[in-house]
Amino acid sequence: MALWSNTTRKGGRCRAALFAVALLSLAAAIPSLAATASSPGPTRIVHSAGRIVPIPASIPHEAGDRVDSRIIPDLRWIAARYPIYITDGYSGPLPGSGRHVGCNGCHARGSDHHYGLAVDIVPLPDTTSCDSHWKPITRLALWAEPRQNHPNPPFDWVGYNGDAGHGCGNHLHLGWSHAPGPEYRVSSWVEVFATSGSSPPPPKSAPKPPPGPQGGVSAVHIPPTGGISPRE
Ligand SMILES: [Zn+2]
Repeated sequence: MALWSNTTRKGGRCRAALFAVALLSLAAAIPSLAATASSPGPTRIVHSAGRIVPIPASIPHEAGDRVDSRIIPDLRWIAARYPIYITDGYSGPLPGSGRHVGCNGCHARGSDHHYGLAVDIVPLPDTTSCDSHWKPITRLALWAEPRQNHPNPPFDWVGYNGDAGHGCGNHLHLGWSHAPGPEYRVSSWVEVFATSGSSPPPPKSAPKPPPGPQGGVSAVHIPPTGGISPRE
């Protein structure tokens, strides 16, 4: 107690600085604390009505891809920081019209793709081998899921290295937590991360829109029919 009660303001600042250094050292020494600093940060539940909408041009994607409107701010945040290219979002008959969009029959039953609350991601430029272009995608995957099968909120399933049909050189799957309910309908709520409070971004290389095919996912990145994971 004497140590802290007998300090000058200058001494207090020095001790505070030393304490901060000690905390930083502690965070570096404990993986869970270090990981927290690079996690998606605070999340919130969005109860407002969502719609399955086209992905905006500012988020690189294959023509025709759609997602639930409520995850677009998160996708904008990610696209501004990682050189992503979305190869599939919503998959199934559109609520209302019934017109099919997205990958046809290539996601498992119960997939977040059937709610418009998942995206499949490859790098820009895309390659089919695990080369240097995939490094930022690997960083994104670790940001979303630092430890296998323990995704950070708001994600409920992250498919990458260690998951069949996913990984470096194949694709990254990000799925957002949402209310249970019937597939091919808009979920009553979805969990999202706060785009203003997330960790600072790593540098991003300038993306160039690739000459991708119209709609769906490329043949290279289509997960096996029937899917490996229930969340694929
Ligand atoms: Zn997927």
